[in-house]
Amino acid sequence: MKTTEKAPNVPIDKFKRTKIIATIGPSTDSYEKILALIKAGANGLRLNFSHGTHEERVQQIKWIRKASKEYGKPVAIIQDLQGPKIRLGDFDGVFTVQDGQSFTLKYDADYEREGHLPIQYDLSKKVKRGERLFLYDGKIRTHVTSVRDGVVHVRAENEGILIKRKGINLPDTDFGGDIITKKDKKDIHFGSEHDIDYVALSFVQSADDIKQLQKMLKNLGSTARVIAKIETRAAVENLESIIKEVDAVMVARGDLAIETEPESVPIVQRQAISLGIRYSKPTIVATQMLATMTEVPDPTRAEVSDVATAVIVGADCVMLSDETASGQYPVESVEVMKRIILFTQNNTPVSPQFDHDADETRQSAICNAVIHLAGEVSARAIVAETKSGATALQIASRRPGRPVIAVTSSARAAQQLSVVYGVKSYVRPDDKLAASKLTDWLKQKKVLKKDDIIISASGQYPGVVGTTDTIKVRVL
Ligand code: PGA
Ligand code: MN
Repeated sequence: MKTTEKAPNVPIDKFKRTKIIATIGPSTDSYEKILALIKAGANGLRLNFSHGTHEERVQQIKWIRKASKEYGKPVAIIQDLQGPKIRLGDFDGVFTVQDGQSFTLKYDADYEREGHLPIQYDLSKKVKRGERLFLYDGKIRTHVTSVRDGVVHVRAENEGILIKRKGINLPDTDFGGDIITKKDKKDIHFGSEHDIDYVALSFVQSADDIKQLQKMLKNLGSTARVIAKIETRAAVENLESIIKEVDAVMVARGDLAIETEPESVPIVQRQAISLGIRYSKPTIVATQMLATMTEVPDPTRAEVSDVATAVIVGADCVMLSDETASGQYPVESVEVMKRIILFTQNNTPVSPQFDHDADETRQSAICNAVIHLAGEVSARAIVAETKSGATALQIASRRPGRPVIAVTSSARAAQQLSVVYGVKSYVRPDDKLAASKLTDWLKQKKVLKKDDIIISASGQYPGVVGTTDTIKVRVL
């Protein structure tokens, strides 16, 4: 079994609690850059399956695991599926649209010959008359006026231009539980054979979409967990039932702003984070967090404030997209994010909108007792022995105000926990003394120090899920 052999030489209270996810792309497509991102503070790496080939992914996954081992820090690999993100196809030049102009869209059309703008998906089977159809990140707004013989007729409500391959948003269209595309299925299959920790599903509409993906992963023998990307109106309406079903949630603010309206984004963000805390589901705030850093080395005041706000309301992760994928300052973006997180956590408590779910399970009672006791004795950290990661996640979801050290025999669980609020995870063999052995080692590595008080939660049956029954107070 692989164990975590290295420990970054940083005292436990200097660790940031809110985690950072960085997207890999042309700006970070090398072992050195990936290692630099991890050293700068990235805890999760997102592979955006809207771009790139499977060969490139195989290489990046190898680099990530190697860099993570080299630096001694488990990281999560997130496979982000394209989902039904529909795009225009290829055509030459610029298509100018006038206000009130009617034009047509057709699957795989040849614009020169047929006069229809090509689209990469047969929308004629999904859209209905009267529904809104937005093009180019919402820059051109249209309504569907009719659908005939596979051709979608629309009328524009403003003027502008269109160029090839720009995205289409359909805020009113019901995909009827059919959001996992053929491409996604191939990508899911690929992911199941390539050491993926999380699979993110784009344009989720209901909890049934999540169930469908979970079933597919199970059939493929994958142990990856599922992230629901909240970016449609339907997902906002079904937010609570989706969060109850899924393993983690991403507030995908880019498409969310187009599919709903930009002013709804901060509200949905708060609701999603609060529900994530209530149901012990990690939450990720994504898109444009440090957008100006794609081109300049400093963030705007508004961006700094955006990251800090996510920290204060208790998000598990903040995410970088273009900043690290195609920007000019990928590593600096992670460094800036880390600085904002640390300053914020050191100067204000996390104040979520509502508390953790008051369920009455034994597990829940143990977690509450651990946190209470840790507070009473001013413990430096809480150590949780965990198999699947559930115990550590449950404790972290109560935002205990001190670090949670997770020890598990499962590398997958350690990696999945790396994007959970306040959790530092280590891989060790199942052992009744796993927690004490780990804390002794951490003391030796100067992560913990002499006289630190540690509260540990463990079980009589190490390695068996749901058997936590022992709480210990230990002075190092
Ligand atoms: P994307 O998702 O980057 O895959 O579009 C995030 C978002 O929409 O904000
Ligand atoms: Mn999106």
